[in-house]
Amino acid sequence: MVATNNSIWYAISYMRLSKDDNVEKENGRTASQSNSDDAEANIGGQHISTKESNSITNQRKLIQNYITSSEDIQFVGEFYDDGYTGTNFERPGFVKLMQMLKDGKANCVIVKDLSRLGRDYIETGKYIEKIFPSMGVRFIAINDQVDSIRNNQADEIIIPFKNLINDSYCRELSNKLRNQFRIQRQNGEFIANFAFYGYKRSMEDKHKLVVDDAAAEIVKLIYAKKIEGYSCAKIAEYLNRHGVPSPCEYKKNAGSNYVCAFKERSISLWGAVTIKRILTNRIYLGYLEQGKQSSPNYKIKKMRAKEREEWIVVKNAHEAIISEENFEIVQRLLNRDTMTVSGNDAVYPLSGMFFCGDCHETMTRYKAKRKDKYFYYYICSGHKWKRGCTSNHSTEVFGLHEKVLNAIKLQISMVVEMEELLKEYGNQAIISVKVKRIDELIGQNRKELNRQQEFRMKLYENKLDGIISHDEYLSMKKKYSDKIDALQSVLDGLEQERASAAEGAGLNCSWMQRFIENKNVTELDRQLVVTLIDKIEIFEDKSIEITFNFKDEFRQMKEYLARAAQDMDRREVVKDA
Ligand SMILES: [Zn+2]
Repeated sequence: MVATNNSIWYAISYMRLSKDDNVEKENGRTASQSNSDDAEANIGGQHISTKESNSITNQRKLIQNYITSSEDIQFVGEFYDDGYTGTNFERPGFVKLMQMLKDGKANCVIVKDLSRLGRDYIETGKYIEKIFPSMGVRFIAINDQVDSIRNNQADEIIIPFKNLINDSYCRELSNKLRNQFRIQRQNGEFIANFAFYGYKRSMEDKHKLVVDDAAAEIVKLIYAKKIEGYSCAKIAEYLNRHGVPSPCEYKKNAGSNYVCAFKERSISLWGAVTIKRILTNRIYLGYLEQGKQSSPNYKIKKMRAKEREEWIVVKNAHEAIISEENFEIVQRLLNRDTMTVSGNDAVYPLSGMFFCGDCHETMTRYKAKRKDKYFYYYICSGHKWKRGCTSNHSTEVFGLHEKVLNAIKLQISMVVEMEELLKEYGNQAIISVKVKRIDELIGQNRKELNRQQEFRMKLYENKLDGIISHDEYLSMKKKYSDKIDALQSVLDGLEQERASAAEGAGLNCSWMQRFIENKNVTELDRQLVVTLIDKIEIFEDKSIEITFNFKDEFRQMKEYLARAAQDMDRREVVKDA
């Protein structure tokens, strides 16, 4: 029975309701029966309204109204499937409906919306695109404004299905989008859906991030608290206690339609995980790191985390909120076990700095009472947990303070001295030392290169003399050639380095300022400690060893200055002679 536009359509209404309607995802997955019970309990008000609007009664009412108002449609019957999922078509009601169509007793199917027909795009699309049209059946999905006899419109509506049905088209589209995204990321364009906390999208250019002042202040506060020695959990606690809205709340208040992952609490609070995420995100340095994860292909929604090397990183993509120096300090502190004094937020200036010099475990702080007075001790945790040290290395905090302060003062005075020498000798002296040093390395490598080249030549003679076989010749020749190539690329690198050193590049002494600006220090404070000290090791004999930050720079500068001094002496000698 094929009807023309002017004839009457004999319609079957079809309703469907499944228990898990609320947890059915758009991609057609359904929650298991046991889970769906939980989901019902959790979803609350939202759930009831969806359930009501989808109830069979409501679907029936809507379809009846539609039929009544359509002059060309005559109702011939209804089928429904109550408690059946939309991810397949093995539903008794639907099977009966198809039979009725096949028997020619009806030529029109009406549903409330597409998802009532089915939730699997491919299968649903097959019915809409192929099966119904081939049977001459008119298909209407009221709320999605789908009506297969309204030709132009129908084509448009079915396009979304085509996207999902046609595999090759879908793959092509997916690849195009991926490429487009990759190009945008490489250009430093921000393409995620939401700006990170501390930034907002620029009004002028939606692919650019600009600083969101209010949130940026909180980001700075979080970094400052970490440097002070707070743990991530303590920082979260601090922010919650001071009523600072979490990123999630902040976005909600700002009117963004950002959806929080966890909704069970009416107000989402700061947590240690969020704090850690903020403390490790290089976005605050002005870096745009994108493409951190990807799905294996367009069909699989599950994302896979990519290796760091695969990320697309663009530096200076936007204004930084945190300095590189503070960021580095925080990264170092994050790897440490920060002990706070219980019941008190104030952090001891040397928290997390002490390690056992023998077993390299952390040293933990303890309190002991002696004659109504408290004493603080550090004890090797490797001993405490019976991993390594046999003695507890117990060291009283009191004496340590002074030792550390004195060591800092000594180190600062050495750096101050270095700076004076640097001024006296002039940058040029250091530059020529650096260049000379590279020249030496170039000389060594060139000598080695010549040696390897000679070996390779001898090899050929050895082959001619019959000392080695042809196969041996080939494999050894490859070995030497590989070495020669490697040496050549080392030499190329050194030549480049020499050229830039000669221009004075890399003569960065900013690290010295960080010591020098503290030259009048009289007591230990947290900022001083974390800026200048990497770690403090305590040995069994209670001796301590302090590793300062910038120790490589210090050593190198010391060596340059020593050599510059030698050069000057030599020059003096030449002048005198
Ligand atoms: Zn130990």
